[in-house]
Amino acid sequence: MSLAPAGRFAPSPSADLHIGNLRTAVLAWLFARSTGRRFLLRVEDLDDRTFSEIGTRQIEDLAAIGLTWDEPPQWQTTHRARYDAVIERLQAEHLLYECYCSRRDIAQAPQAPHAPEGAYPGTCRDLTEPERATRRAETGRPPALRLRTDTFVGTVTDLVHGTYTGIVDDFVVRRGDGVPAYNLAVVVDDAESGVDQVVRGDDLLPSSPRQAYLARLLDYPETIYAHVPLVLNEDGARLAKRDGAVTLAEIGVERALEQICRSLGWPALDPDGMLRRFDPAGLPRHPWVYRPG
Ligand code: GLU
Repeated sequence: MSLAPAGRFAPSPSADLHIGNLRTAVLAWLFARSTGRRFLLRVEDLDDRTFSEIGTRQIEDLAAIGLTWDEPPQWQTTHRARYDAVIERLQAEHLLYECYCSRRDIAQAPQAPHAPEGAYPGTCRDLTEPERATRRAETGRPPALRLRTDTFVGTVTDLVHGTYTGIVDDFVVRRGDGVPAYNLAVVVDDAESGVDQVVRGDDLLPSSPRQAYLARLLDYPETIYAHVPLVLNEDGARLAKRDGAVTLAEIGVERALEQICRSLGWPALDPDGMLRRFDPAGLPRHPWVYRPG
C-alpha cells in the first residue's frame, strides 16, 4: 500500500500544550504543507488512557490556532494490534531478547567494550536459557524485550542539524509492563500512515538513529527529520507548564500566534500567512527564549 507522503505532530497527552509545543506543531504543519504533504495528528497516549481529556484539549488547541489536518486524529492506544504484530515479526526473526535489568542494574553494569556511553551494556543479550529462567525467577517481574542490533551508532539526515550520529544500542521495544515502547510505536505508526517527514523538538534528536535503524530493519521508507530547537524560559531551562502563562487558555489565540511569529522573525500572521513566508533555510537554529507578557 502506498500512501501520499505526510508530516505529523504527535503530542503526549501528559499536560496541556504550552507555547513551545504549539510552536513545534506550527512548524511541523509548515514543513508538511510547504512540501505538499498531508498533515496528521497522533496522540501518543500509550502511557495512560485516563489522559484522554488532555489529548482532546490538545487537538482543540491546535484547531484553535488555525492548523488543519487531513484525517481524524489517531490515538496510539487503539493501535495495540499493529504494534503486537511487529513485535511478533521481530520475535520470529530472533531479533528480540528478554531483559531483566532495572534502571539501577543498567547504571551499575560495567560498560560493554566498544559501546558508547549511555548505551545498554548488553547484560541480558547472551544469557543461556537456564540463566534466563534464573533471572526471571529472581526478578519476579515480567521482562522487557530488547532489539538485538548489530551496531552501536547510526546517522540520520536532519534538515536543521545536518547529519547527526547517535547511539543505536539494544533498545527496548516492549516494556516490562507489556506496553510497546515509544521508539517502536512511533516508527510503526509513522510508516503505517505514510509519514515520511518527522518534525519535532530537538530533545528527541538522540532517539532518531534508533528509530531510523528499526525502520530500515522493517523495510519502511526512509524518513526526513527536522528537529527544531526547544523553547526555553527566562532562566534558560526548558519551558514547562509551571512557568505560568504558557498554555493557550492562558495566553489566548491571538497573542500565541503573535509570539510564535515573533520567534520566527515575522509580523503577526495566521498559519496561511506563515505558509506564504515559510523558508526552512531561514529557520532560527538557536532555542527561543519565551518571555510572557
Ligand atoms: N510524543 C512525543 C512528545 O510529545 C513526540 C514524539 C515524536 O514526535 O516522535 O514528546
